[in-house]
Amino acid sequence: MKMVTGYAGWQEDELRREQARLQAEYEAYRSLNLKLDMSRGKPCPEQLQLSNEMLDILPSGEELRAENGTDCRNYGGLDGLPEAKRFFAEMLGVQSSEVIVQGNSSLNLMYDALARAMLFGVLGSEQPWSRLPSVKFLCPSPGYDRHFAICEQLNIEMITVDMTPEGPDMDAVERLVAEDDSIKGIWCVPKYSNPGGITYSDATVERLARMKTRAGDFRIFWDDAYTVHHLTSRHDELKNMLEACSNAGHPDRVFIFASTSKVTFPGSGVAALAASRDNLSHLKKQLSVQTIGPDKVNQLRHIRFLKDMEHLGRHMEKHAAIIKPKFDLVLSKLESGPGSKDIASWSKPSGGYFISLDTIDGCAREVVQRAAEAGVTLTPAGATYPYGRDPRDRNIRIAPTYPSLEELAQAIDILCVCVQLVSIDRILA
Ligand code: PLP
Repeated sequence: MKMVTGYAGWQEDELRREQARLQAEYEAYRSLNLKLDMSRGKPCPEQLQLSNEMLDILPSGEELRAENGTDCRNYGGLDGLPEAKRFFAEMLGVQSSEVIVQGNSSLNLMYDALARAMLFGVLGSEQPWSRLPSVKFLCPSPGYDRHFAICEQLNIEMITVDMTPEGPDMDAVERLVAEDDSIKGIWCVPKYSNPGGITYSDATVERLARMKTRAGDFRIFWDDAYTVHHLTSRHDELKNMLEACSNAGHPDRVFIFASTSKVTFPGSGVAALAASRDNLSHLKKQLSVQTIGPDKVNQLRHIRFLKDMEHLGRHMEKHAAIIKPKFDLVLSKLESGPGSKDIASWSKPSGGYFISLDTIDGCAREVVQRAAEAGVTLTPAGATYPYGRDPRDRNIRIAPTYPSLEELAQAIDILCVCVQLVSIDRILA
């Protein structure tokens, strides 16, 4: 019996036979005219259904009063409702006075925070960032494409920093921020990161909080999007960044973002920003010109539905019960496909929304293209890097949550065939 070993150890004639077999399999998939979209990390309809009763939770025919008596139907309350502030404070491990609760999208809060920094500067800035000859951000990669898109639009130069299993390569981060005062910030998805599923180690959090930056108004954009999105009962623990910054003597260094987008309804959730009290009062002065106040009706609905951390935890377990089998399916197919041929490696996340797949160098773009030709839309190759350029052309982000198990099985089978085919092409070239 032939031992299954990596393609690298196969004879050329064996590889050519394998190539022909895979090509036939690929053509068979192509003839099915499939249309499978795996490009974005969205909850599936069954997940959305978990929150449907939230829509019936507010009584009609009554005033909608928050716990402090605020009539949620009317203007006001720039910070968000007290009960919503308490909820997010608990979720993020900060005080209520260190959080404001806003509208439907944390990405929107991030965009606005950065746009305001460009227009006016942040607390402690000598001038608006846009007046400087150049503004740069560190971008641990692979990372979240929409963070990079914000920088690109605001003309902020992006510097790619490698991700390690503990978070960004901190030797590189510390060196860069110490030598260049135009580096004004860093993007971080610190827990169950997008796409690598990595949770930053305590040492990484400490070093980010403590490091010496040439820019006095340096900011960490701490996008804690997946903080409650566990896939198993073993939860990753993330050290408290606001506390770490404060202990390190840099209390204003971090802006923390989170939302309920993938807890309830993406696009109709509630988002929050946590930071030092000084940061928040600076920010609220600016915000008060931008808006009279957030959607308090939606905040009230969310808090009455999600209630507290215990209820939130139970709700998230229901999400995990739906999506964990999808992650498991992808992982087992990767294992028996490209894994058995030693031509790829991938993350095995215990939370979040993605699996990050690395092919052999120089293959990702072609794999994504071949998959598209067979009816499977993946996130564009390169999207997980600044300017859409993956220097090794190897990273592919897999978003398993939205498709049904049947669709997912078919899509991953096709992806696996494409990874194997393109790898053999490279090896034989
Ligand atoms: N941050 C990360 C890391 C994400 O992956 C996503 C969505 O995929 C978002 C933010 C978007 O959050 P929101 O819906 O609150 O704007």
